[in-house]
Amino acid sequence: MIAKVRYSVGKVGNAGAAEYALRTLLEMVISPDCLVPGTCVGERHDDEVLVTYGIAPEVIDTGIHVFESGFFDDHYGTIEAMPQRPVVRIENIPAPYRDHGGPVDRFYSVRGGGRNDQIECHVDIVAGAFFMLSRYEETVVSSVDGFARFPAESSIAYQEGFLQEPVVNQYAEHLLNMLRAAGFTGERRRWWGTAPWAIAVTHDIDKLHRFPMNVLDIARYGMGRVPPWTPKVGALMRDYVQTTARRKTDEYDCLQTIAAWEVSVGMTASYYFMGDDAGWHGADYVVDAPAVVATMQTVAGMGHEIGFHAGIDSSENAQRFYSELSRVRSAGIPVAGGRQHYLRWKTPLTWRLWEQEGLTYDATLGYSKAAGFRCGTCLPFKPYDIEHDREMSIWEWPLMFMDATYLLSWTEGTKVLDRLTQECSRYGGVLVALWHNTNWSDIYASPVRQHLQRLLMESIAQGAVASSITGLAQLSGIATTGRVCRGSA
Ligand SMILES: [Zn+2]
Repeated sequence: MIAKVRYSVGKVGNAGAAEYALRTLLEMVISPDCLVPGTCVGERHDDEVLVTYGIAPEVIDTGIHVFESGFFDDHYGTIEAMPQRPVVRIENIPAPYRDHGGPVDRFYSVRGGGRNDQIECHVDIVAGAFFMLSRYEETVVSSVDGFARFPAESSIAYQEGFLQEPVVNQYAEHLLNMLRAAGFTGERRRWWGTAPWAIAVTHDIDKLHRFPMNVLDIARYGMGRVPPWTPKVGALMRDYVQTTARRKTDEYDCLQTIAAWEVSVGMTASYYFMGDDAGWHGADYVVDAPAVVATMQTVAGMGHEIGFHAGIDSSENAQRFYSELSRVRSAGIPVAGGRQHYLRWKTPLTWRLWEQEGLTYDATLGYSKAAGFRCGTCLPFKPYDIEHDREMSIWEWPLMFMDATYLLSWTEGTKVLDRLTQECSRYGGVLVALWHNTNWSDIYASPVRQHLQRLLMESIAQGAVASSITGLAQLSGIATTGRVCRGSA
């Protein structure tokens, strides 16, 4: 019975970063309780499989030896350590770092037989996982879009066509296969209790009012840059008159209706509120206004999570981040995490802002223009701060699909969403989806709402758990509770 895994990182340039990546890979598929850190290969016990990285294979006669490509050595931290292009695939899995002298058609090889099998992994899965999870390229490639964001098009995964494949999970899966081949009999890690996979529905609350329309919305209307199902001017004017005459509720003021529907199908969700209501890109509501606080309390009272949607100018500004967060926290509801507005992000600085304020997670890291696995994974993970060389004490729940990305091409969006859902289901991960409350309305977003409602109901019927991120964090045992406003009782 071999139910433990000892992992050991030898002489590599940055052993701390390598150890982080190897441990994170292992923890994706086996319980942290089954892992034993080891620095000396002679320490291995009979009930352990040994996994080594950066240790010459000649000195070990057992276990799994992962090829070390030199990523963590002299060029670590520079653009020189970026993958060679084009990225080859081995067993159809992208292998940006690999043994160029190894077989081109096999991910790993087994030598010997029986108890003392030695397994050679020809792909440097430690470097590959680190490259994706730490967002390495975002720190060494200077490329930004009009909102100072790292664009999807500048990423290796997008350019090489694997943005919609969770490559880190593929590596972890192969690692588990290697562990099995080496005799490991422990259980596979189950992240979501008895459910095989999970969906985290998140709602960024940018707007609570359809009317009055702001200048940007009117300009989009005028230029025809609106979804095909958008009502004609006549119907829009009718809705405007009825709403402003208070003969009906504003179509965007629908949080309690969404929250009630979610509860009715057996799920909860995360609702992220903004503390920034200034300028073009601020919220169109005041987060500490009594009516908004009352809505937050009602939604929280139904079992949903209330979180923080950090404003567009907060992603590199600690003071601003803190003051906006304080306004959201002033409602007195614990806040554990949330997401940056417009997905505006600077790696690794923005992670630090979330960490410094005692938040337990961020859910920003998807791209605004293309859905997929920006971090290469469909599981939450602790990020690594490349500049300060340390594992961080928060969790990243990477965003995979945002409704707004595909509003002008929804048919394509539904295909992408189906594919991402299948990948999350296949690897026992969590589909983190962003569904704006502005895409609930029957008048303005009926196809989006119908598709997402059907996806959720079908997934739940098939056994997936759909919950807020704090709910899923509790289920997976990685939870810590959110805090209310600093200094308050
Ligand atoms: Zn937003």
